[in-house]
Amino acid sequence: MIDVQDLVVSYGTATALEHVTLTVAAGEMVALLGPNGAGKSTLANTLAGLITPAAGTVAIGGRLALIPEGRQLFPDLTVADNLALGGWRSGRRDPSPVYDLLPRLAELAGRRAGVLSGGEQQMVAFGRAMMSDPDALVVDELSLGLAPNVTAGLAAHLTELNRERGLTVLLIEQNARLAFDLCHRAYVLESGRLVTEGACADLADDPRVAGAYLGGA
Ligand code: ATP
Repeated sequence: MIDVQDLVVSYGTATALEHVTLTVAAGEMVALLGPNGAGKSTLANTLAGLITPAAGTVAIGGRLALIPEGRQLFPDLTVADNLALGGWRSGRRDPSPVYDLLPRLAELAGRRAGVLSGGEQQMVAFGRAMMSDPDALVVDELSLGLAPNVTAGLAAHLTELNRERGLTVLLIEQNARLAFDLCHRAYVLESGRLVTEGACADLADDPRVAGAYLGGA
């Protein structure tokens, strides 16, 4: 579903991704871990077609939507209008399937996005991504700045979509514990290079990964 081969991305003379190869099969939920500046958002934005790679290939087998880092909502627009923008490219204007999925958004529909809590804003970004009825979703930092119980609520929606509708998910996270809870497989990116990959159960037992990403657990 998501097939990245030998991807190289540069900003001017600085290389942000060096020969990254990563795949996510249809219906899989896979994590991408890494510290600040590793290149995670660069990968997300390249998958979404916002960045043109210097080399390598990106193949997406279906419709892909992105929940971008920092949500990137229009704060002065209502929730309904932010959702409508998510359906613009695909021509899908009816928000009711998204309200069925995330009923809280129906209650918030007339509110300005900028006045909502961080968790509510992340839900709007989630709903906006789902407006295009995607086959695959790239989530750039679901948990960033959110309380654990708020993150857990959003994660539950994501898991339900994956299990019940077969939504393919690439979960980009600094919170390895959350990623390992939700995903079967993970990649670890550091300084633009993949340093390890494997089943989350195995990675959680790897002392290097545990030390760096699970607080030495
Ligand atoms: P974070 O979690 O902090 O967002 P990240 O893993 O998502 O980190 P990126 O944002 O992809 O990392 O950044 C990777 C590298 O590319 C960093 O060194 C960053 O400074 C650099 N970079 C990112 N965006 C740009 C840009 N628009 N112009 C120049 N350099 C950039």
